[in-house]
Amino acid sequence: MTIKHIALSFGYVEDNALGWVFFSKEPGFKTPIEALEDLALGLLRAYDENLFYEKTLGDCCKETQAVMPGAKLCAKCGHRFGPEELWDVEQFEYWLRGLVRGTCDSLGMTFDDNLGWDPWAGPPLGHPLEEILLVSQPAERFLVKALNPETVPDRCRLALIQWWEDSLRGWPDRDREAFIAECNEQKFNW
Ligand SMILES: [Zn+2]
Repeated sequence: MTIKHIALSFGYVEDNALGWVFFSKEPGFKTPIEALEDLALGLLRAYDENLFYEKTLGDCCKETQAVMPGAKLCAKCGHRFGPEELWDVEQFEYWLRGLVRGTCDSLGMTFDDNLGWDPWAGPPLGHPLEEILLVSQPAERFLVKALNPETVPDRCRLALIQWWEDSLRGWPDRDREAFIAECNEQKFNW
């Protein structure tokens, strides 16, 4: 089996999006979890580059910092200050849910060079079904679960570990190992 394409359905219950987002990467992956982890890392990188690292402080941000030293975000545009504020699982999930409302252009720009994943406007027609991993809603949650705490950027690690601890309190048997097994069976249980 080689997984070359991933189709994702974002949202949960009423938020469930009425469309899917598709990505492809050659030459593909041996297992579903390898593919999903790689895509999740690429999306995390895209999220950082688009929302944080390339953002220079605007005049409004500098003004906020002058008036309120130690402020955690800009009073006007909401830009966050300080590396400890850079990553938050819920904000990342929110951003992921928004992908389905993008265009090919916005997705293409967003994912330029991010681990080599290409976004598509429609399903990968003409390719064998075995090459396609279908990730049911809420795909944003499964992408977070696919992130490996050992390979995410340093500043994300603690937040990710904390997120797992919180979620295991409610679902003690739904740890990352269980998720990996489900993913490889191509079963996504909320
Ligand atoms: Zn600002």
